[in-house]
Amino acid sequence: MSVTHAPQTADVLTRQDPELAEILLGELHRQSSTLQLIAAENFCSPAVLAALGSALANKYAEGYPGARHHGGCEIVDVAERLAVDRAKSLFGAEHANVQSHSGSSAVLAAYAALLRPGDTVLALGLPYGGHLTHGSPANFSGRWFDFVPYGVDAETGLIDHDQVRTLARTHRPKAIVCGSIAYPRHIDYAFFREVADEVGAYLIADAAHPIGLVAGGAAPSPVPYADVVCATTHKVLRGPRGGMILCGGELAERVDRAVFPFTQGGAQMHTIAAKAVAFGEAATPAFAAYTHQVVANARILAAALADEGIVVTTGGTDTHLVTADPAPLGVDGRTARGRLAAAGMVLDCCALPHADTRGLRLGTAAVTTQGMAEKEMERIAALLAGVVRGDVESVRAREEVRDLVGGFPPYPA
Ligand SMILES: *Cc1c(COP(=O)(O)O)cnc(C)c1O
Repeated sequence: MSVTHAPQTADVLTRQDPELAEILLGELHRQSSTLQLIAAENFCSPAVLAALGSALANKYAEGYPGARHHGGCEIVDVAERLAVDRAKSLFGAEHANVQSHSGSSAVLAAYAALLRPGDTVLALGLPYGGHLTHGSPANFSGRWFDFVPYGVDAETGLIDHDQVRTLARTHRPKAIVCGSIAYPRHIDYAFFREVADEVGAYLIADAAHPIGLVAGGAAPSPVPYADVVCATTHKVLRGPRGGMILCGGELAERVDRAVFPFTQGGAQMHTIAAKAVAFGEAATPAFAAYTHQVVANARILAAALADEGIVVTTGGTDTHLVTADPAPLGVDGRTARGRLAAAGMVLDCCALPHADTRGLRLGTAAVTTQGMAEKEMERIAALLAGVVRGDVESVRAREEVRDLVGGFPPYPA
């Protein structure tokens, strides 16, 4: 399940710019010698890295295949058509735009395609796991649109469907956004479709996190339900950093124009080629098995953390994501993250619904790519709890982490 072959450490870079080459090697070493539990990260394959480091990086290609504003696009056009065709067949979508530079750019383009400044939009509030692009005042979304936040139930941690329905009826939004940076459960897309239809709103699914699970059949697909699906290609999907938009044929032209020329310039052809490689990988039985293992690992991790006394939000997970409150172990999320970082366990803090302290957000996409399974999840949970409690000294914990990851090199030589 782990990727084979080390990424080429470009000798040419070592010779020409040893200072920078040293930094790249240092980062590769950091990724290989510490534990990557950041839910949004993964290890893409050497083939994806090869496409990213290819001559396609030199090519200017404003526009779309067959209709570019630059000459010499005949070959990159083939690459983009391949990426689009693979995305369409992977997700069963009528249309795919693979040019979005990031997940946020994809969301910006979706809003540009469907909304006008000042429109009302319903989305999961940031304290409950909404993304910055879901109405944060620090983001264009909060500045240009009138966001109404829905939340999660204080008891169960699950999206409050009654509240969604009531807010939709009261505010009559132009669009409803479903999707989250931290929600560990499947989203009921049929429910959101029903509410959107009732109030005449567009449904935008921001599936940046689960889209990789969708590709492998380990999570339900938003494609049959949402008018527009926004996604990233670098999270569980394990491709290059970037975004993607899926939609029906009737919105295809509006979505394409919203990406270019409305919100972006030239397409990044090396990234689009790398997306094509990743879509090709994601269509294999091996990737489907990977995504099911990602979820199995997350479930075991969640259960083992709960056994250690950590409060797992919603009582578990359906996905690669686990959010948890370490308070019963005597520290808040920020302190816990600091102790864990010192031990070489890299993860994020997250908002905790209905609490004023921060929690921890972990994901199993990267460790599963490395080949870790049930046994390692239990080891990680025990070590994490020991470090957070202050039972395991950080030097000793760091040694244990090194020992653990040493058996699962992300890029074996
Ligand atoms: C990760 C994420 C994004 C943004 O992706 P970037 O590539 O960092 O811009 C947007 N929405 C959701 C729900 C995400 O999880």
